[in-house]
Amino acid sequence: MHANLASIMPQIVATWCEQDGHDVTFICYTGRESITDEIPDDWDLVFISAFTQAAQLSYAISALCRDRGAVTVLGGPHARCYPEDSAKYFDYVVGFADDGIIKDILSDCCEHRPVGMQLSASSQPQFLPGVEERWKYVEQTLEKAPLIKLVPMIGSLGCPYTCSFCIDSEVPYQTMDFEVLSNDLRFLRTKYKRPRVGWHDPNFGVRFNDYMDAIEDAVPAGSVDFAAESTLSLLKEDHLKRLQRNGFKAILPGIESWYDLGQKSKTGKCQGLDKVKQVSEHIALIQEYIPYLQANFVLGLDSDAGPEPFELTKRFLDLSPGAFPGYSLLSAFGRAAPLNLEYQRNDRVLPFPFHFLNNNHAMNVKPANYAWPEFYDHVIDLTRHTFSWRAIGRRFRAVRTAIPRWMNVVRAVSSEGFGRLKYYREIRRRLDEDLPFRRYFEGETTDLPEFFRERVKHDLGPLWHWLPKGALFHDPNAYLNAEAIPAVTPLTLKASAPTAN
Ligand code: SF4
Repeated sequence: MHANLASIMPQIVATWCEQDGHDVTFICYTGRESITDEIPDDWDLVFISAFTQAAQLSYAISALCRDRGAVTVLGGPHARCYPEDSAKYFDYVVGFADDGIIKDILSDCCEHRPVGMQLSASSQPQFLPGVEERWKYVEQTLEKAPLIKLVPMIGSLGCPYTCSFCIDSEVPYQTMDFEVLSNDLRFLRTKYKRPRVGWHDPNFGVRFNDYMDAIEDAVPAGSVDFAAESTLSLLKEDHLKRLQRNGFKAILPGIESWYDLGQKSKTGKCQGLDKVKQVSEHIALIQEYIPYLQANFVLGLDSDAGPEPFELTKRFLDLSPGAFPGYSLLSAFGRAAPLNLEYQRNDRVLPFPFHFLNNNHAMNVKPANYAWPEFYDHVIDLTRHTFSWRAIGRRFRAVRTAIPRWMNVVRAVSSEGFGRLKYYREIRRRLDEDLPFRRYFEGETTDLPEFFRERVKHDLGPLWHWLPKGALFHDPNAYLNAEAIPAVTPLTLKASAPTAN
């Protein structure tokens, strides 16, 4: 994970452990470090937080740590989405974590093998340590960030919207302590001349005025730069004026689909080309106030059929040249959303190794209305259009400020733009020419194509050696199969002496 995008929760767990009297070593692993050298022989307990795309990496690191005598814990999105699979490789697998759960694990600190213990708090925590309390971990992480350093803050958990594919749609919305937010902003101004803050809220600004009041109470207008993900429905002109005044420089709204999810884009029942036009006008308005805008889309939703959704996105790009589009291929992350049960029931979820589940390198849901070659043809065509030199030039000219302009160019010519196009072309070629590969996509075999195996091996490097046997494979229907048995229940552990290793 790039240091600027690293999650907050590992910093919080480190803070809780330290507050509980433990010696803590914190590592933000960006992929550049030699992790095998950084892990000593005397760790008692290792917490790892991982997104699903880092699952195989985390399994390998857990095996390495266990070999060196540690008890291991997995938290983060992968633990929440795939607890059954994670429990094969960790002693503890944590869903919602609060300081009570972490304390329980610290005092239990036992090997639970071959199947780890799954546990979860009954809800998201009500209180989280702020930036000041976790500063040394923030600082340590941001030392690895290049020129721009984005301090992670969080003002709310969950979301009141109900987008069926989203992990936060099922989590009740709650605000965090506004006093802590204000104190943290004041604190940051003692650390940086002009701090930059990335809000990690799933949907920033639901209680818009409260957040703006907290910011305005804490720091002079425009003295801190902010970036946030928010829905279009919250980005009305009066809100935009206040966001601009308060230093919001980047905003990432989700459009997702031209045929669905009208509530969050405030387009109601309006669909297709009408929605494109309405959203484009809104985007133009936002960009009058906020220089950097990434518009997010999900490709392959069941509401999409034929070339039209892709053509509409191209039309949108032409009408909104300053918006950087973020595309995600429809993915079902285990238990992330109830909709995934539906996909599993209909036998539509494919067992791509977790390593590829980053919304781009594999789409693990068979599309409802496209054959694979047809789908990838559309994806390639859209990606080519998006990262054509013409589109890059138009985007450059449409954005007025220097950093966002160049950021868009860098993103386009890097692995995100050109790199992805090359990857999609390779997938498309293999769908025609490589029969076992095609059969895997069609769900006719679960034999993993060599192409995917070799990529995991290459990406894990020396950690490939530590990947446990069988860890490339998982049950794609584990959620459905376990439905009758609640897999994650609130649990309190009894304190016991740590095992000698
Ligand atoms: S608005 Fe965003 S955060 Fe909220 S449920 Fe929809 S996708 Fe998730």
